[in-house]
Amino acid sequence: MKGGNTKNMDKAFVKVKCPDCGNEQIIFLRASTVVKCQVCGATIATPTGGKADIRGEIVEVYS
Ligand SMILES: [Zn+2]
Repeated sequence: MKGGNTKNMDKAFVKVKCPDCGNEQIIFLRASTVVKCQVCGATIATPTGGKADIRGEIVEVYS
C-alpha cells in the first residue's frame, strides 16, 4: 500500500546531511551504534536507546 503518510517513524530510515561536509547518507533512525559520515568521519547520529540523536539535517524520511 502506498500513500499513507504515517507518523509512525519506528522503522524509518532517514537521509541525513553531514553537518561538516554536506555528504548525504541514509541511516536507520533507531540506530543502535554511532553512525559516522562515510566521507569525513564526523558523527552524524548517536544512539539513545530509542530514536537516534541526529546531528545533521534530515533531508528525507523513508518509512
Ligand atoms: Zn561528512
